[in-house]
Amino acid sequence: MSSSPEPLREIIARHGLSASKALGQNFILDRQLLARIAAIPGSLEGQKVYEVGPGPGGLTRALLDAGANVVAVERDRRCLPALDELRRDFPTRLTVIEGDALKVDEREIAGAGAHVVANLPYNVGTALLLDWLSGEWPPWWSSLTLMFQQEVADRIVAASDSDAYGRLSVAAQWRSTPRIAMRLSRSAFVPPPKVASAVVHFEPADQPPGVDPKVMKRLTEAAFGQRRKMLRSSLKQFPGALDAAEAMGIDVRRRAETLTVAEFVELARALS
Ligand code: SAM
Repeated sequence: MSSSPEPLREIIARHGLSASKALGQNFILDRQLLARIAAIPGSLEGQKVYEVGPGPGGLTRALLDAGANVVAVERDRRCLPALDELRRDFPTRLTVIEGDALKVDEREIAGAGAHVVANLPYNVGTALLLDWLSGEWPPWWSSLTLMFQQEVADRIVAASDSDAYGRLSVAAQWRSTPRIAMRLSRSAFVPPPKVASAVVHFEPADQPPGVDPKVMKRLTEAAFGQRRKMLRSSLKQFPGALDAAEAMGIDVRRRAETLTVAEFVELARALS
């Protein structure tokens, strides 16, 4: 269903939604841009979508216009009246929950198979991403479409042997295939944030057999905790890791950032 909605600037003004810095509120007002973000997961007709941080509801409406059934969690109760108005236009397809996305049980709220779409404050987004990548596999979500600071997005998709490659890259890439779907300049947001942003889309990958996620976490923490040091020094933090690396034929004079995701997977499997 397509609708001719009131401009978001007016909705924000009418509800007195001055942007809160503490809640990381940088709103996107351009309906065409919001429709392009809502299209990133693919067709949402009849699909479940879990949206985090709907704010005044711009992206929420774009998701509803794309035919999705949306469950949205918003922490700022000032936004609820604007979202309530949206619910009048889509009475059967929108559920709004007031709450902190870091504390809710998404699986219960959104249900298995939901696509996650969120334009969130960066620190909340990274915490949620790491949580969603570390749970049981296959995960409860079908895909993740998340906004990050551009620098964080670049770290997520970075290949080994690059400055941006690190724990976040391995955490994302050993269980999913992340790609940067869109880059946004600061001026796409009101108010403009300090840095540019990017939307990253993740599809879950098959989990490599025999790898314990907790072991992978400890291994990458040890390896990248001292990223300028050779593995023979940094891996001492993790009993058995150095021996396992040598048994695999990995030169322990290498540094963590030269190890590919596949090598991390092999090492984590040997230690699991
Ligand atoms: N989705 C809107 C858009 O694209 O214009 C708003 C995006 S704004 C960057 C982030 C939104 O997340 C705000 O509405 C903020 O109140 C909300 N938020 C911040 N922390 C949250 C949390 N822990 N749980 C749920 N919502 C949160």
